[in-house]
Amino acid sequence: KRLHAYKRQLLHVLGILDAYLAIKRGEKRPKRLHIFGAKAAPSYVYAKEIIKVMNVVADLVNGDPDVSKYLQVVFLPNYGVTMAEKIIPAADISEQISTAGKEASGTSNMKLMSAGALTLATLDGANIEIKDAVGDDNVEIFGLTEEEIAGYYQRGDYHARDFYDQDPRLHAALDMLVNGQIPGIETEGRDIFNSLLTYNDEYFVLADFESYLAANKRLDKLYQQPRIWAKKALANIAESGRFSADFTVQRYGREIWHVVAKTPEDDHEA
Ligand SMILES: *Cc1c(COP(=O)(O)O)cnc(C)c1O
Repeated sequence: KRLHAYKRQLLHVLGILDAYLAIKRGEKRPKRLHIFGAKAAPSYVYAKEIIKVMNVVADLVNGDPDVSKYLQVVFLPNYGVTMAEKIIPAADISEQISTAGKEASGTSNMKLMSAGALTLATLDGANIEIKDAVGDDNVEIFGLTEEEIAGYYQRGDYHARDFYDQDPRLHAALDMLVNGQIPGIETEGRDIFNSLLTYNDEYFVLADFESYLAANKRLDKLYQQPRIWAKKALANIAESGRFSADFTVQRYGREIWHVVAKTPEDDHEA
């Protein structure tokens, strides 16, 4: 699958940079391994820049013995179905963190849910259907709603820089892109930093940073209670049947195309 900026892997990267800085300050964190996988379209420069940053952040975090005890990051190249078959069943958390209003549906969210991951999500696309299926207690929701984002557009009063100025943790994570703390991303770090601050953060990454961290903190705490975690994971697996391909095709046939499935007997009569 291809990387798209609206899916906000960048928010995930900023969360990792925040965790890196916290661990460097001596904060104890539950262990986390973050997995990225995505391809870039040949002409999508910004996607390539994000992939570059993911790779160097992985080098920084994994190469620092103070940090890598608690936090590791991998970028898996050539993400496709064969690799998805291995990663998806292994995942504990499914990060579905697109800007609300941007994702038509999403299918990876359903795949991860059916394999027992808990969903950390914005109210976007099929994340909303997942929440409706499992209930508020079995999914971790954060961030601006589609309506709140529409409000920013209508009033024209989204100022990404205010979040940078007012949140010291966000400020420190963003500065890492441009202050040389991450080697080898002079161009990419500056371009991403400018897209967020000079060009006012088209995908509301900065607006959702604080609530994303808070949701992650709730999940870290929950992971310390394995039976409760397992119960929530099981509720997700149990409710995922409605997203199966067979059910979906049947429902499209009934509700959209108004067709009735053929049976073997129909062929005999023909
Ligand atoms: C599911 C999946 C696909 C197919 O996606 P569709 O939305 O069904 O076309 C392709 N690549 C990967 C990595 C997938 O996990």
